[in-house]
Amino acid sequence: MSGFPWFDYRRGRLHAESVALEHIAREFGTPCYVYSRAAIVAAYREFDAAFEERDHLVCYAVKANPNLAILNLLARLGSGFDIVSGGELQRVLKAGGDPQKIVFSGVGKQAGEMRAALAAGILSFNVESEAELMALDRVAGETGRIAPVSLRVNPDVDANTHPYISTGLKENKFGIPFGEAEELYARARRLPNLRITGLDCHIGSQLTGLAPFAEASGKMLGLLTRLEALGLPIEHLDLGGGLGIRYSDETPPAVREYVAALCATTKGHSRHRILIEPGRALIGNAGVLLTRIEYLKHTPHRNFAIVDGAMNDLIRPALYDAYHEILPVMRNRRRGKIYQIVGPVCETGDFLGRDRKLPLSQDDLLAVMSAGAYGMSMSSNYNSRPRAAEVMVDGDRACLVRRRESVEQLFADESMLP
Ligand SMILES: *Cc1c(COP(=O)(O)O)cnc(C)c1O
Repeated sequence: MSGFPWFDYRRGRLHAESVALEHIAREFGTPCYVYSRAAIVAAYREFDAAFEERDHLVCYAVKANPNLAILNLLARLGSGFDIVSGGELQRVLKAGGDPQKIVFSGVGKQAGEMRAALAAGILSFNVESEAELMALDRVAGETGRIAPVSLRVNPDVDANTHPYISTGLKENKFGIPFGEAEELYARARRLPNLRITGLDCHIGSQLTGLAPFAEASGKMLGLLTRLEALGLPIEHLDLGGGLGIRYSDETPPAVREYVAALCATTKGHSRHRILIEPGRALIGNAGVLLTRIEYLKHTPHRNFAIVDGAMNDLIRPALYDAYHEILPVMRNRRRGKIYQIVGPVCETGDFLGRDRKLPLSQDDLLAVMSAGAYGMSMSSNYNSRPRAAEVMVDGDRACLVRRRESVEQLFADESMLP
């Protein structure tokens, strides 16, 4: 047992659904991201079903992984989308997403991005400051459209997660200070080119306990009640994303428990549609990074396995000191040594795993698990490394969903002085 339901050993070989990862490496090369279609479908259905009769919309946070195949799969399942840029808007539209199921988050929306989202007819702009509110009213007026608006409020809740991905504390750059929300809603109501639709928050990512969600949704509900008393027409309550996944020994709440907790705090408000914006919890454990060992290097101090995947492919270990399980694609019974699993990039921070006890040989394949979210989407071309290929497995088929980049593509838009 691998511990990852859609990536498991069969006769000692690690598979994605029914396809051997070894086969994918041979056909598409390494490093390579491999996604399981069934895992994504199951994760989406789990969220959707957990709401039962409650009016709801699951808006996949596109930044977790914006591959068109993933967006198209989710669009066909009925998913909505949480976008944070004009680029993500274009991707969602290209993949067949329904504009009426798109919410637009982010602290720095540009006028051009606002225009594109207005033209598409999105469900809501999640506005994060007074200055943005004024800009949106102006842009909407110029284009002769009415912008649907929710205010993203910062509930000042400690999400107990890594500081870089904590967003709901008053010292963070996100959202409107909790105490200023009522005044700003009153202001928004008077602006001619806006229409108030909802109330929004998002407190952080990789949350492994229910308490911060319950605290935030409780505070939001109190605010919602006060806004309604002022006669503001709030149609939906967007409670953001952030549900964590298991990378090693975390025990995040089950999707069912998480949704039940959100529904419980908002029970008296069943007229309001509930929106959530999960990213990681939909895609994180639906993907792995497949990489091959180039060299083993045994020094008097440490043993290194130098693999062909690196921090430019998966930056989470370098950036957050994040842990990803690393499994051998071919299981063997030899005794392992303690290895540092490192990439070829010229940085000491370039590691995928530290102090892993594994029996390794040159040319072995490794699978870096739980790499579906914030893997490919945070990748770069550092060290002029072309980005990895992406493959989606569906049962016994493996489809290339993004070709490996070529070096020529990397400098195609550069030029030398005349
Ligand atoms: C990143 C983000 C999400 C998704 O967070 P996950 O932890 O991946 O679920 C949702 N909403 C907003 C506004 C975000 O910035």
